[in-house]
Amino acid sequence: MNMNYTADELAFRDDVRTFLEEKLPADIAAKVKQGRRMSRADHERWQQILVKQGWYATHWPEEYGGVKWTAVQKHIWDEESCRYGAPRSIPFGVNMVAPVIIKFGSEEQKQHYLPRILSGEHWWCQGYSEPGSGSDLASLKTRAVRDGDHYIVNGQKTWTTLGQHANMIFCLVRTNTEVKAQEGISFLLIDMDTPGVTVRPIITLDGEHEVNEVFFDDVKVPVDNLVGEEDKGWTYAKYLLTYERTGLAGIGASKAALSHLKAIAGRQQKNGRPLIEDPTFAQRIAQVEIDLMAASISNLRIIASVEGGGVPGAESSMLKVRGTEIRQTITDLSRRALGPYAQPFVEEELDLAYEGEHLSDEDGAALSPQYFNMRKLSIFGGSNEIQKNIVTKMILGL
Ligand SMILES: Cc1cc2nc3c(=O)[nH]c(=O)nc-3n(C[C@H](O)[C@H](O)[C@H](O)COP(=O)(O)OP(=O)(O)OC[C@H]3O[C@@H](n4cnc5c(N)ncnc54)[C@H](O)[C@@H]3O)c2cc1C
Repeated sequence: MNMNYTADELAFRDDVRTFLEEKLPADIAAKVKQGRRMSRADHERWQQILVKQGWYATHWPEEYGGVKWTAVQKHIWDEESCRYGAPRSIPFGVNMVAPVIIKFGSEEQKQHYLPRILSGEHWWCQGYSEPGSGSDLASLKTRAVRDGDHYIVNGQKTWTTLGQHANMIFCLVRTNTEVKAQEGISFLLIDMDTPGVTVRPIITLDGEHEVNEVFFDDVKVPVDNLVGEEDKGWTYAKYLLTYERTGLAGIGASKAALSHLKAIAGRQQKNGRPLIEDPTFAQRIAQVEIDLMAASISNLRIIASVEGGGVPGAESSMLKVRGTEIRQTITDLSRRALGPYAQPFVEEELDLAYEGEHLSDEDGAALSPQYFNMRKLSIFGGSNEIQKNIVTKMILGL
């Protein structure tokens, strides 16, 4: 197994660096690096820059406007784009529903939805989880009953990320109650402007509006919006989850967050010396850096095996657990580096345009909200306990 980059991969990395230096808007990079609030317009602006470059749809075949990157190229992009402060693409359209439509959708669905994802006309959100159906997703109850050329949908989804911006939602719905739970689920594409769809915000610990509840009251959805076959949605849902879990370890993001932590600890003082020179704090940073290096090597090992024709198996569960624990530790240390100054929450400081007084470091305002926000990493995309169950079964054979 060779984990060094080839000459072509190094040339690709140079291209990526040149692109990011020339095309990544400075205000967007500053927001990402300082953890400030990103607007919908910021995401849309960056998306269009990537689309123009042909680097937006990295999981799609070229015939639909995608680009054929190898696993190593995707890894290089992840590392470099995080280092430069590029925002991560909102995944629900381009990296989640699109691969499902490409693999299981009709030709009409491909022609209709894929260009609208690229152009930004459709902003998608994910309607999987329900109150009481998260880890045990197959128990979902949102009901779709066939009525002529339509389904009538009733029920509720929850934790719907950025649903307040979305005009389309892909949903798992129950179309059959007579069979085993997994065999009565269908995959439905729903226009959020249809009468009967209501989006209600959930405000999280960081004070932000990132997730929502979505209610369906007698929502009429054309049968043409069914992906694949009725009652076969569980297969498509699982296929989508393999895409959702790709990259959840967030190695590139953790590397960027670690260098941010070091910069903050270099500026903060303790007993007249930079905090980063304090033996206890330096030891904590060193430990998380060692853990990150180990996770990064495991990541490269998995990538090398995929390039060699293997498939990422339970190793990606292991990587998700370690990667998210590391990220949470870094956000914890970053908050601790500010000490009591991390305590006050001045919401306005999350806007890059804020010109008022900063209580501490100008990066400081975002550190506590980020700490709270990053608690989500060990819950979504399959909670860490569920990933550990997979590792126990598939790797340890218990
Ligand atoms: C910020 C955020 C954004 C999200 N965005 C979306 C979204 O856009 N769309 C969407 O559909 N969903 C979304 N989710 C939902 C997410 O997928 C679920 O929260 C997750 O699957 C866990 O389900 P749950 O919340 O119902 O918890 P539960 O499944 O009730 O779990 C509660 C606790 O019990 C543990 N547990 C459960 N079963 C087992 C078991 N068998 N063995 C050991 N421990 C177990 C869990 O690990 C957890 O600690 C989001 C969640 C968060 C926090």
